[in-house]
Amino acid sequence: LRMDSYLIQMNGNSDVHVHRNGNSLSLGKVKSRKPRWAVRASEMSKKTFNPIRAIVDTMKVEPNPNKPMISLSLGDPTVFGNLPTDDEVIQAVKEALDSGNYNGYAPSVGYQSCRQVVAAYYSCPEAPLEAQDVILTSGCSQAIELALAVLANPGQNILVPRPGFSLYKTLALSMGIEVKFYNLLPEKSWEIDLKHLESLVDAKTACLIVNNPSNPCGSVFSKSHLQKILAVASRQCVPILADEIYGDMVFAECKYEPIATLSTNVPILSCGGLAKRWLVPGWRMGWILVNDRRDIFGNEIRNGLVSLSQRILGPCTIVQGALEHIIHRTPPEFYHNTLSFLKSNADLCYAALSAVSGLQPVRPSGAMYLMVSEALMCHFQSIAVCSVCAGSCCPAQCLPCLLKM
Ligand SMILES: *Cc1c(COP(=O)(O)O)cnc(C)c1O
Repeated sequence: LRMDSYLIQMNGNSDVHVHRNGNSLSLGKVKSRKPRWAVRASEMSKKTFNPIRAIVDTMKVEPNPNKPMISLSLGDPTVFGNLPTDDEVIQAVKEALDSGNYNGYAPSVGYQSCRQVVAAYYSCPEAPLEAQDVILTSGCSQAIELALAVLANPGQNILVPRPGFSLYKTLALSMGIEVKFYNLLPEKSWEIDLKHLESLVDAKTACLIVNNPSNPCGSVFSKSHLQKILAVASRQCVPILADEIYGDMVFAECKYEPIATLSTNVPILSCGGLAKRWLVPGWRMGWILVNDRRDIFGNEIRNGLVSLSQRILGPCTIVQGALEHIIHRTPPEFYHNTLSFLKSNADLCYAALSAVSGLQPVRPSGAMYLMVSEALMCHFQSIAVCSVCAGSCCPAQCLPCLLKM
């Protein structure tokens, strides 16, 4: 055992000498730290920007006093009171509340019985699901956040539709994930430009986001288009994050195909929830369905999702307590009536916008949106200009020309 003796000498309040076993070492002047307030918002907060919330939450418009205002900016079906949820849905939550059984903490991925209910509801022979394939979340937004967080590291990239739902970019940039936009084609009812999509894939591509039915396009992909998307994913070995929050919300003339039912090999995280189909976005109940028939995600991704779910307890227990009744007791007429209401509104908007010269609305097939083609979004960004402005695109698609017309 060696015992060294130290003497630390401070002259005044800043000149410091250390003496070890008689040898002196000067540390010179040490600046005394005078604390000062310097509270700054984090880098993460500065990288986080949700354009929809930023616009909607800060929007101050003076409506024409002689006319009621119709807000077309936000996909919240509860705003005008004309799309109420079903009584059974309300009743289910009342019962859950009154039971007193749902006031505590649940497992971070949700109650096993609720995961079982969701699995059974969405399971089908082409894409079988069990309770452990379901992760319950705080709305579909947290489902997307967890799916992105488990699939992508900072510095990797994800492929995102344009025009598309803005949350993907908001979440990705906040996590340091790069976003690459693939084009949707208005002239093909907003199908994906598959060549463009495939050209964007590189060694750092972590996943492909497919939103079907689409916000904001109101489009519904056909089976054959979905198969072509899957072929790209399969060729390039890129997993799919399917945002299917509008699943089953399609008008009578077309059919909704969950993308996972069309593939045996592409691993897919399908995100959904109660918000849109059951018209209760404020209840914050969503889920991830893990479709992985070839065991490509394996335990790696499943365990990753479970770990991430443990950061916060996302899914509300009261709503979990109501989930089985919501899913089993909501009458078929409710879904049917919601859709026929949306369909007649879609037809009305389509007719009204078609009558405006210069606007080219694309008739929606589902969800709650209608998108007007085209110069305003894609062509403006890619700076395509027509012959009138000395470029090459068609005048009807060129924003500079449109504005002059
Ligand atoms: C509304 C919406 C979501 C988010 O759903 P929440 O359950 O409210 O979080 C996700 N994706 C799309 C395309 C949406 O329109």
